[in-house]
Amino acid sequence: MTEALELRIFRKFAPLFGPGEVSTIGIACSVTLDSKDPRLPRLAELEREESDRAGCGFVLSWNIERRYTPSEIENAQLFRLIITRRFEPTGEQCGTQYDTAALCPHCGAGRVQRSTLLLNLRKLPKKGGFSVSLGGEIVVSQEVAERITDAHMTGFKFRPIGHRAGPFSGPLDLKEVPSGRILLAEAAKVGLSASDGEFDVWLNRGQNKSLFDAAMREGGQLEETRGTSAPLPVWHQLVPEGEAAVVAAPTKFGINPLDEDPHVKYRCPNGHTAGLNLLSEVTIDPESWKGRDLCVTNVLAGHHPHDSVLYPEPILLVSPKFRALLERLNSKGVKTEIAHLATGQ
Ligand SMILES: [Zn+2]
Repeated sequence: MTEALELRIFRKFAPLFGPGEVSTIGIACSVTLDSKDPRLPRLAELEREESDRAGCGFVLSWNIERRYTPSEIENAQLFRLIITRRFEPTGEQCGTQYDTAALCPHCGAGRVQRSTLLLNLRKLPKKGGFSVSLGGEIVVSQEVAERITDAHMTGFKFRPIGHRAGPFSGPLDLKEVPSGRILLAEAAKVGLSASDGEFDVWLNRGQNKSLFDAAMREGGQLEETRGTSAPLPVWHQLVPEGEAAVVAAPTKFGINPLDEDPHVKYRCPNGHTAGLNLLSEVTIDPESWKGRDLCVTNVLAGHHPHDSVLYPEPILLVSPKFRALLERLNSKGVKTEIAHLATGQ
């Protein structure tokens, strides 16, 4: 395996590298280093110093590209599945109901999906394949889902996705449409107003849902499917199920390849998140995998900034069988790298 760190840094830090190593892109510079580069420990010290001094380091963004030999791929027992395309609006922005009562105050883990995933299906990648929302909702297009289903893979389910055009813009628009005005009057009868925290949940309750959909349609937020020239694309939510695989040493998390977060700012004290980002290949406890074709890890990576659509996410793992199918399908929006089973020594 060879590992290349692609770093995008603030331009003023370009002199840290040789003139031939750096290419300039606007206010940033890009540099690619081998993960065995002897300068990395010193660069990590400088990144940390800059972060402590200025509040953020010199690394703006980064990527780690791992390349394997055919025999390494052939002998691997497990792979990490990386979905490379993100989309928005997220399910939450499109009106999907989530229970956030148990949300962890430190990391934002613990959100529970309570309704069918609602998305604007027209905003998903035109060529199909895999994609994931900024909020971590994983979706698979019909054609790929069919092939995966036909291959009898284990460890997940597909769920339907509802279509809602445009981000959910809140209850204020209800005053502007006839069905919305009826809903507001009904809400008033049970003592609810649009400013109540429960209002959105009430709107989506059984007896109100069809009226709410009608209001959304009248407000142009729910697309009429009949009579439109292009049929809606069909996508499915991929929902992992079963016990999580337990992440083991030497898996490494941190802020970026030059900052392993020594102050553990992004490691949840309740044990949900192991860090902001995964920095290494993944190793898991083999007992916890159980041979499934897809599973998630017990610890998450990421953070939930207050009022944002971002949430911590688990790492996805797939079997060699699942990876081989993806290779055959040449699926869009997805790549894999090798993951490891801890040897238990
Ligand atoms: Zn937490």
